[in-house]
Amino acid sequence: MKATVERTPLPTGREAADVLVVGASAAGLSTVEALRRQGYAGRVTVLGAETHAPYDRPPLSKQVLAGVWDPDRAQLRSREALSALEAEFILGEPAVGLDAATRTVRTASGHTLSADAVVVATGTRPRTFPGQAGLAGVHVLRTLDDALALRDALRAALLDSARLVVVGDGVLGAEIAATARTMGLDVTVAGPQHAPMASQLGPRVAGLLAELHTGRGVRLRPGAGVRGLVGSAGAVTGVGLDSGEVLPADLVVVAIGADPVTGWLQDSGLRVDNGLVCDSRCRAGEGVYAVGDVARWHHDQLGALLRLENRTNAGEQAMVVAANILGGDRAYTPVPYFWTDQFDTKVQVHGFIPTGADAETDADADAGMTVVDGDPATGRFVARYRHAGRVTGVLGWNMPKQTRLRRQDVADALADGPARATALR
Ligand SMILES: Cc1cc2nc3c(=O)[nH]c(=O)nc-3n(C[C@H](O)[C@H](O)[C@H](O)COP(=O)(O)OP(=O)(O)OC[C@H]3O[C@@H](n4cnc5c(N)ncnc54)[C@H](O)[C@@H]3O)c2cc1C
Repeated sequence: MKATVERTPLPTGREAADVLVVGASAAGLSTVEALRRQGYAGRVTVLGAETHAPYDRPPLSKQVLAGVWDPDRAQLRSREALSALEAEFILGEPAVGLDAATRTVRTASGHTLSADAVVVATGTRPRTFPGQAGLAGVHVLRTLDDALALRDALRAALLDSARLVVVGDGVLGAEIAATARTMGLDVTVAGPQHAPMASQLGPRVAGLLAELHTGRGVRLRPGAGVRGLVGSAGAVTGVGLDSGEVLPADLVVVAIGADPVTGWLQDSGLRVDNGLVCDSRCRAGEGVYAVGDVARWHHDQLGALLRLENRTNAGEQAMVVAANILGGDRAYTPVPYFWTDQFDTKVQVHGFIPTGADAETDADADAGMTVVDGDPATGRFVARYRHAGRVTGVLGWNMPKQTRLRRQDVADALADGPARATALR
C-alpha cells in the first residue's frame, strides 16, 4: 500500500490520474466499468469491506434465499471479466476514514490510500432493534453471508414447523415473506402500514399486494407497530407490538429499512445528511464523488436532494460519475426505477407513485391512478399516476414490456422543469 501523499485539488475539467473506489459492489464496480468503457486507462483501486468478489443483491431475497440459485450465480462478473478491468481489488479491508482535502482514505488495518478522485460507494446497512445482536434466531438480509445464514435457518425452520415473523412491511420484508412462504414456511408479516409497500405503491396496488400474500397463506398484521423483540435464554421467542400483544416467533427477520454507510466519513469535512450530500454532478467535494445507495445528490429536474436505494440507480449513476471524473460536466437526472418479484408477480415502478402522504385520503391518492393497459382483475396491468395535474409515475403489474413503453411519459414530465417537477415528490 502507498503512503499518504499531499494532494492539491484538480482543476475542474481535468482528468484524474488515479481513482480510488470505496465499496466493491454494484455501484462501485459499475463505476470502474464505466471508466474503462469511456476510455480511462489510468490506475484504479477498489477497496471493499467484504471478502467476496462483487455480487448482486436482488437475488439474495429471491433465488439465493429460496435455494434455487447456487450463491456463485449472484456474482456480478466472472473472474476473467474482473481481471480484464485491470483494477486492483483490495477486499476484506474497510475504509475507516477519509480526508477529503487530500483525498486520502484510511483503512481498518491502518493503511492509507490516496487518489486524484475518490468514489464513495459504501451503500447502506440494515437498521436493527436494540439488543437484537445478542438474540439467537434473529436475522437481517443485506449481504451474501446474511442470505446464506437465513436460507439455512429457513430450511431448519421448515423441518421444525417453526413460526417465522418478518418485521417490516416494505419491499424487502414483502420479498422475504413471499420467498419463505413459497418454501412452505408459516409466515407472519408485521408492520405499521395498512398493506405491504403502501408507501411505495399507493393504497390500491398495495391492497392488491396484500391480497396476493394472503391468498398464498401469508398472515399479514397491518397497522402493527413493532415495539421490539422478546427473548428467553438468549433466543428470540416473539415480537412485541405497540398494542402490547406479543406475536410468538421461533425465527424473526428484521427488515425495517437501512441507513447509508457514512460513519467512516464523519471527520472527512464533507456534508453527511441521510447519505453523502452531493451536487447535481454527484460531487461531494473537490475530486470526491458518491454513487449508489449512499449518494444523496441534487436532482436538477426535481429541484431537490434525492437518494435512491435501487439496483438500476447504482448502474446509471455510475456512468455519470465516471464521465465527470474524466473531466465531464454531466448532471444526473434519472427517472427513478425499481422492480420487485413476489410469488409469480413482477411489479415495476418508473417515477413516483402518490401515496396517502401526498393526498388527503387514500381515495384521493388513488384518484390520480388510471389503468392504461390490461386489467387488475386479470393480474396484468399498467397504471399511470398523476398528482397536481402532472404525470408522476407508471406502475406495471406483470406487464414488463408495456410498462417500459410508458416510461417516457414520466421522463417528459420530469423534463418540464424544476418548478413544476417538485409536484412529483
Ligand atoms: C436483499 C436485497 C434485495 C434487493 N432487491 C432489489 C430489487 O429487486 N430491485 C431493486 O431495484 N433493488 C433491489 N435491491 C437494492 C439494490 O441491491 C441496491 O440498490 C444496490 O445493491 C446498491 O448498490 P451499492 O453498490 O450502492 O450498495 P451495496 O450493494 O450496499 O454495496 C456497498 C458495498 O460497500 C461495502 N462497504 C461498506 N462500507 C465500507 C467501507 N467502510 N469500506 C469499504 N467498503 C465498504 C459493502 O460491504 C458493500 O459491499 C435489493 C437489495 C437487497 C439487500
